[in-house]
Amino acid sequence: MGLSFFNTLSHSVQEFVPLDANSKKVGMYCCGPTVYDFAHIGNWRTFVFGDLVRRYLTFRGYDVKHVMNITDVEDKIIRRVRETKTTLREFTSQYETAFFDDMKSLGCHLPNVTPRATEYIPDIVSLIEKLIARGIAYQAADGSVYFSIEKYRGCGCNYGQLVKLNFEEMRTGERVASDEYEKESLADFALWKARVPDDGNVFWPSPWGEGRPGWHIECSAMSMKVLGNSFDLHLGGEDLKFPHHEDEIAQSEGATGKPFVKYWLHGAFLLVEGKKMSKSLGNFFTLRDLLAKGFTGREVRYLLLSAHYRGTFNFTLDGLTGARASLTRIDECISKLRELAATAGTPPSGGSPQLVADFTAALDTDLNISAAWAAIFDWVSDTNKRIAGKILTPTDAAALLVTWDQINSVLGISAVAEAEAPAEILALLEARQAARKAKDFKRSDEIRDELKTKGWVVEDSPKGPKLKKI
Ligand code: AMP
Ligand code: ZN
Repeated sequence: MGLSFFNTLSHSVQEFVPLDANSKKVGMYCCGPTVYDFAHIGNWRTFVFGDLVRRYLTFRGYDVKHVMNITDVEDKIIRRVRETKTTLREFTSQYETAFFDDMKSLGCHLPNVTPRATEYIPDIVSLIEKLIARGIAYQAADGSVYFSIEKYRGCGCNYGQLVKLNFEEMRTGERVASDEYEKESLADFALWKARVPDDGNVFWPSPWGEGRPGWHIECSAMSMKVLGNSFDLHLGGEDLKFPHHEDEIAQSEGATGKPFVKYWLHGAFLLVEGKKMSKSLGNFFTLRDLLAKGFTGREVRYLLLSAHYRGTFNFTLDGLTGARASLTRIDECISKLRELAATAGTPPSGGSPQLVADFTAALDTDLNISAAWAAIFDWVSDTNKRIAGKILTPTDAAALLVTWDQINSVLGISAVAEAEAPAEILALLEARQAARKAKDFKRSDEIRDELKTKGWVVEDSPKGPKLKKI
């Protein structure tokens, strides 16, 4: 088997084959933050897991379109807007900005598209209209529109694809207005919530009167609008399996009649002293709390990536100290390689195919990160021995750094070279930018190669080119 993931939909480990098996294009949707507070590091465990999946698919040659929504209207947000007497946008924008800042501190790639629910109201409305037209949704006496589980099942559709549900205990006609409910409260859920005085100024017009969308329909509408009716991967924390993801499947498949998502991946919880880290339990750390204690985003990222995504993970501050020690081991090895490679004359070749093979075999197996770390630390020990024994030539060292860059493109944990580029190098970078602007790609490639022989690589990012010392 090549690359495989545990698919919650099939309840088994399955080989990953994109929907369009002949192309390398992959659509991936990760449920994003509800911007009513700072994300805690339990949330970050799930988002860093999404970043790992995206980076690893890219490493394996896929062209990933990574979508992460911003939930900027839902029950909890409305409550906080009311309590803080602000406007919806004022309230959510501060946490949205903080979210993207934290994402950068944690070395996550920004998703390619980050739709905000409030900007997709027309798509949400038209999705609800489709469900009503198909007889699967109805407006109740309270003015809200609900999804009818009975009607959906009556069309031969399967409600309960991700989790087992007990329909015997479901009372027909029972409805749940809140976005969050347990399996025991299985009932018709709200798609459109009629305006009530507590909503304040948070409402939009709709064919069913003023109101606002339910949380579940937001994700169905945004994901299908950006990625199409059917797409490859959908990710989230394990608590989202029910009701959020089950409802997303029902709304999407109910409206389009097509399979919604091929692979569902769920990350397990981050725990604190055996309990789920959550705001309601008050046992949480935000990333900012940890930065204030003197830890770095890189150390937090390393810790979050140290365990397999499907196993619960117990967070401790000692664990972060351990992460620091492990990163130092890697950093020391890489900086010795950098020193040695500084005098490399010929272009690097060779590297460590063994490390790449072991790393790939590990992560191909449902992202077996423990085996991947084991391969990395074996390589670090071996490389340190070879450096100490003066067996490595500068060219060997440069080649090993190329290998490390490949590995690090997935992990994103390497320290950024602190060295400030000298003026000559900066001038070359500028010349390369000018050549690219003029679409003289031959010249820009030549300059890139020249930079490389002088010990610098250029990495193009959405924010512009970045120089890194080899
Ligand atoms: P929220 O902002 O509450 O919608 O949560 C954002 C993401 O964090 C969701 O995918 C949740 O499943 C996930 N999440 C929430 N708590 C934890 C936790 N303790 N450990 C891991 N993931 C979590
Ligand atoms: Zn979602």
